Amino acid sequence: MAERPPRLGDVIDDYCPKCRLLLNHDVASLYAEAVAKVTCRTCHNTHDYQNAQVPAKRPSKKALEKRSLMDQVLAGIPAPPPPPPAPVTPVRKKRDLWAEVERLRKK
Ligand SMILES: [Zn+2]
Repeated sequence: MAERPPRLGDVIDDYCPKCRLLLNHDVASLYAEAVAKVTCRTCHNTHDYQNAQVPAKRPSKKALEKRSLMDQVLAGIPAPPPPPPAPVTPVRKKRDLWAEVERLRKK
């Protein structure tokens, strides 16, 4: 099938900003043999043709605010002190009960 310039009413795929999905669109307007505007066949919203490109997801304003607040909180906190050294537990010798008995007998 030979590529032909798009015509009004053609059905093409594009990203609908209202539906936030890649959906079928009707070509609504052309400019210099290129699609200028399209109408979503799902919600009938007419918008600029986006070359079927799904826009990069950007973090919401709320998420950005949350992160900056977290940064502020973290910036206000002094670095935690190094943990105290682990107490040195002397290796306890196993009590030699027989030695103890000998010692008591000698008394
Ligand atoms: Zn739509």
